[in-house]
Amino acid sequence: MDCDDELKKWFYEQANLHISSLNIRFREKCVIKEAMKNKIMNCLRENAITTDDFDSRFTSWCRNSFMVCDIGSERFLCDMKSKKPVLLYENMYEVYKKIHIETAHAGRDKCLDALSINYSWFNRELLQICLKSCSSCQQRKSIKRPTVSKPIIALEFMTRVQMDLIDMRTRPDMNPNGKTYKWILQLKDHFSKYCWGRALQKKEAREVYDCVREIFFQFGPPHILQSDNGREFVNELINSLEADFPGMNIVHGRPRHPQTQGLIERANAILSDALGKCYQKEISR
Ligand SMILES: [Zn+2]
Repeated sequence: MDCDDELKKWFYEQANLHISSLNIRFREKCVIKEAMKNKIMNCLRENAITTDDFDSRFTSWCRNSFMVCDIGSERFLCDMKSKKPVLLYENMYEVYKKIHIETAHAGRDKCLDALSINYSWFNRELLQICLKSCSSCQQRKSIKRPTVSKPIIALEFMTRVQMDLIDMRTRPDMNPNGKTYKWILQLKDHFSKYCWGRALQKKEAREVYDCVREIFFQFGPPHILQSDNGREFVNELINSLEADFPGMNIVHGRPRHPQTQGLIERANAILSDALGKCYQKEISR
C-alpha cells in the first residue's frame, strides 16, 4: 500500500469516527454517500410518488434540498439552493486534496471558498481532517517573523505599495525556452493586501523597472512606493520611475526594519512557504 492509500484510509477512518460521534439525527444527512445519492435520485424521479419506498418526510426533504441537473451527458444530484453538484462522501478525500494543492496548500477557509465554486454538501470538519493528513503542511511550518508593533495605515487601494525582491538563486526556475529565473519581484498593496509577483532573471534595475511599470500602467501608480533599500533598487530605477510617474513618492524603508517592511516580509514568507511546498512536491515525485 503506498503512502497516499494509507492517508486515504486514515482520512476515512477519522471521518467515520467524526460522523459516528454526531447526534443520530445528523449522522445520515451530514454527508451524502453514493447509496443515499441513488436513493434521492430515485425519489426525485417523476413517477416515484406512487411507491412506498420513501416516506413523506424523506420525499419532502429530497424535494426541498435537491434537484437533478444534466451537465453534459451526465446526470448530477445538485443542491437546490446553490445549484452546485453534491460532493459525494466517497470522492471527498480526492477532491479536498486536489483543492488544497491547487490553492498552494491553503488553510481551511480558503479551501472552503474554493470548494464552494464547484460543489455543495462538502463538510468543514472532514476537510479539516484531510488538511491534517497533508504531509507537506506537517513538514513545513511557516517561518516565524518578528511581530509588527506599529501598523502602517493605508486608507485605500494603491495608497501605499511595498516592493521587495525574493532571492531564489538557490532554487532557480528554468522555463522551456532556456530562460532562468532567479529572483521574484513582489509588490503588495498595503490596504487590500493584494500582491503581484513577477519572475526576474537578474536583480537589475531594468528588469525591475519593466515589471513595476507594467503593473502601474494597469493599476495606476500608488501614492507611495516603499522599497527595501537603495542597494537593491538602484538609483537608475528610481529615476526612471519618477520620470514615468511624477506624482509618486518613493520611500525607503530601513532594511529589515520590522515596522516598515513587516507586511511585505510576511507576504514573502507566505509566498516562499507556498513555493517551498511545491518544490517539496517536485522533489518527492
Ligand atoms: Zn498541504
